Amino acid sequence: MNNVVPGTLVDFSDLNISINSRQFPLLQPAAKNALRRAIQNRGTTMGINSGYRTCAQQYLLRRWFEYGNPCGFQAVAQPGSSSHESGLALDLADWGGWRPYLETQGWVWYGWGDVVHFSFPGIPIGNIEIKAFQTLWNRNHLNDQIDADGLYGLETASKLSISPSEGFGGDPGLRILRLASPFMRGGDVRRVQKKLKEGGYLNNDSDVEGIYGPITEAAVRKFQTNEGITVDGVVGPDTYRKLGI
Ligand SMILES: [Zn+2]
Repeated sequence: MNNVVPGTLVDFSDLNISINSRQFPLLQPAAKNALRRAIQNRGTTMGINSGYRTCAQQYLLRRWFEYGNPCGFQAVAQPGSSSHESGLALDLADWGGWRPYLETQGWVWYGWGDVVHFSFPGIPIGNIEIKAFQTLWNRNHLNDQIDADGLYGLETASKLSISPSEGFGGDPGLRILRLASPFMRGGDVRRVQKKLKEGGYLNNDSDVEGIYGPITEAAVRKFQTNEGITVDGVVGPDTYRKLGI
């Protein structure tokens, strides 16, 4: 989200809190400032059950809530519309103890419908979160692009449902390949070179080495010319598709 809109969320793990390592200690800056004052005023450690939530986490919570509700949630919003995804919410086990301190600082207790939940007034930014997911999806699926419009709909839901739980990180997937300094290298480059060699655009086995240098770029240009697509020496969605990758 901070890549989509810089400064959207800040880390609040520097405050006097205890939070599970699987939770994300992220809030909007104004919410963090109010939280800091509340914790200072009470003078104890705040135990946090839930802070910031990714749209993937919200998707799972909503599924559990809709299909049997095994965790007994009182309420779960649709992905993109929870205040947890906007960095404007906290769930606290000791909600009763913290309530007066938080309310003094502008935090709002949800009420008996979801007793652990507090929110801070601010601009909902779930659309930024959805757009961040859509952008990540597109970056990792060059041949299966979706609208990065920040709206949660059937298309985004279907992509969330098949995304790896550990995230897209680690495997760069299919990147857009071009002649760069230093040269791009990796398995995706090797896959392109292998296809170019099979098509007769590269001559030697030694050309299939996973490094995108001038020989590979020249072969891509020749391939693009013969295929009648834009000749730019850059391997993007069209070129991948023509290569059958
Ligand atoms: Zn909550």
